Amino acid sequence: DPALVLDRVSKPVTEFLNGPLGLLIDGEWSNAQSGKTFDVFDPATGQVIAKVAEGAAADVDRAAVAARRAFESGPWAKMKPADRTQLLLKLADLMEQHADELSEIESLDNGKPVSVASVADIPGSIAMFRYMAGWATKLNGTHINLSAPGDYHSYTTREPVGVVGQIIPWNFPLLMAAWKLAPALTAGCTIILKTAEQTPLSAIRLGQLIQEAGFPKGVVNIISGFGETAGAALAAHPDVDKIAFTGSTEVGRLIVKAATGNLKKVTLELGGKSPVIVFDDADLDVTVPGVASGIFFNQGQTCCAGSRLYVHEKMFDRVVEGIAGEAEKIKIGHGLDPATQMGPLVSEEQFHRVTGYIAAGREEGARVATGGERYGDRGYFVQPTVLADTNASMKVVQEEIFGPVLCAERFNDDDLDRIAKIANQSEYGLAASVWTRNVSLAHKMAARIKAGTVWVNCHNIFDAALPFGGYKQSGWGREMGEFVFQSYLETKAVTIKL
Ligand code: NAD
Repeated sequence: DPALVLDRVSKPVTEFLNGPLGLLIDGEWSNAQSGKTFDVFDPATGQVIAKVAEGAAADVDRAAVAARRAFESGPWAKMKPADRTQLLLKLADLMEQHADELSEIESLDNGKPVSVASVADIPGSIAMFRYMAGWATKLNGTHINLSAPGDYHSYTTREPVGVVGQIIPWNFPLLMAAWKLAPALTAGCTIILKTAEQTPLSAIRLGQLIQEAGFPKGVVNIISGFGETAGAALAAHPDVDKIAFTGSTEVGRLIVKAATGNLKKVTLELGGKSPVIVFDDADLDVTVPGVASGIFFNQGQTCCAGSRLYVHEKMFDRVVEGIAGEAEKIKIGHGLDPATQMGPLVSEEQFHRVTGYIAAGREEGARVATGGERYGDRGYFVQPTVLADTNASMKVVQEEIFGPVLCAERFNDDDLDRIAKIANQSEYGLAASVWTRNVSLAHKMAARIKAGTVWVNCHNIFDAALPFGGYKQSGWGREMGEFVFQSYLETKAVTIKL
């Protein structure tokens, strides 16, 4: 009953949802220039929960003027790095004070269980701001020895790249905002953040906290709106110096094209179809729940979800039955129910996409080991699903499903190069996991995998200090860790004749 669900929403979140929910431009919350708004849905019920200002090109223009001004002059341009650290830490503290509220908003907007948002998304976002805050005072250049030492003195400086456009997806709305904002702010950039139209809410609440923390006006601008309008305008904007995008590979290609006008710098975090390789010596007590959570976490809507499973023939049946058992134990329900372990998919569109893939898998001859159906009769729930006996020619094995659907295949081989060839048989290269008790086999396999992340005996382990990004069509560049600053800083070589 939707009324029951809305009863569960706390008072501060109810007040927040009642709005106004505007665009953050130049330190002020405003309506879209067009006056338009769009509806935000609870994916568990399909009910409208809020109305949000719908930003478009004219609003991106206003934000770009504000971000440029804030970058070139005023308090942010002159701010000491140590003061940037303090501001970022203050924001992290405010997020922590409002963590329950942020978890609730995230759950309601995206569908994910509040029990997950409160231990993964929200603390992960806070940790990102805290980790990056420490880097603000440590972004140094170097002294360079030239071939004629003594005649010249050369050094490099590192300077913020400028006004940054950031476009984020709906699968981890607050966390993706944090991955993008924290390093750009640390580097001294100013930002126009375009959130996903499915999930604009937590970033608006974050924007309120950014105001409260005292960031100067124009430093962070947040635009809710659609991809083809607000997103495309941001990617093509002539006065934006860099664009950072997370989302589908298809839209990634559009971003690259749009960026050619002023050749703005581009980084991309795109799709994945990450292989999971289980050797015959794997510890099944660890492997079975680990592989299950590698695919089913976040309803499978994770770019690095372990969606292609390859198991040594000797273990195949036990592993597949074990994962099916794990899937059947998962408690599906409304995200705000504290007992829920898996929520609905984010939207009706995503629901049709995922159920369409399951139907395609059946038609192509995959065996449904568990799941395969819609869950319940309202909202966008899909059962956690295992398709067994899949093969490389199937669409479900080649394409990113972005839902709780695992494709399982057996291998009967001891040749690591051949196993790696199967694992690498994808246009993507975001992540992989290897499950074995043999340390040297693990290292040998890690070296053979063409992916930006390889996990051994675990999956979906993230840390603000670890670089994350893709090989092949999974993207350009790395986020997080020290590596991310390559995307937000320019390097200047200064040479003086002595
Ligand atoms: P998408 O790539 O369309 O959306 C991601 C972001 O890009 C959103 O903010 C969207 O508004 C924006 N966008 C869309 N079109 C744009 C354009 N022409 N110019 C600029 N910005 C634009 O992703 P989606 O449609 O929400 O999901 C489709 C598929 O994408 C999913 O099923 C999944 O396979 C993949 N996906 C991947 C990730 C990831 O983390 N890698 C995240 C979300 C979706």
